[in-house]
Amino acid sequence: MTHRTNGGKMKKRHRTVVKEQKVGGNSGERKDRVLQTRVPGSLYSDLVSRARRLRVPVSNLVRNILEDSTRMVENILEGSMEIAETLSHGVNEKDLQSVLGWQPMIANRDLACSRCSETIPKGAETFASVGSPDGRTLVVCAGCKSAI
Ligand SMILES: [Zn+2]
Repeated sequence: MTHRTNGGKMKKRHRTVVKEQKVGGNSGERKDRVLQTRVPGSLYSDLVSRARRLRVPVSNLVRNILEDSTRMVENILEGSMEIAETLSHGVNEKDLQSVLGWQPMIANRDLACSRCSETIPKGAETFASVGSPDGRTLVVCAGCKSAI
């Protein structure tokens, strides 16, 4: 941490630096990597006191927080896709007609057709919209695709 004298006042500068280091060198490649990062003094103190309370090393606490946040972001992204799919139900014919194209795909999970709301089971052929109104992704079953 760099301290600077600025008119007699000590000023802390916080800069985040992320370095990546391999653990174990070249021989016997290990999966774990070491991340070094500068954090504000207040965050450091908070992490240390939380780790003490939980009786775990600070590095374990930080790793758990990173893993949890990564999982949370993935869940948020999955949730957004589900919300987008839900919002796409009950679209009108005009929206379906204005789509630029339909990309054939295999459903990776049960979906609902944006036109007829029938379930498109996992593994079934379905069609995803490309260039649909408002940037929504519409999904239609094979039957509706031939009717559009
Ligand atoms: Zn349909």
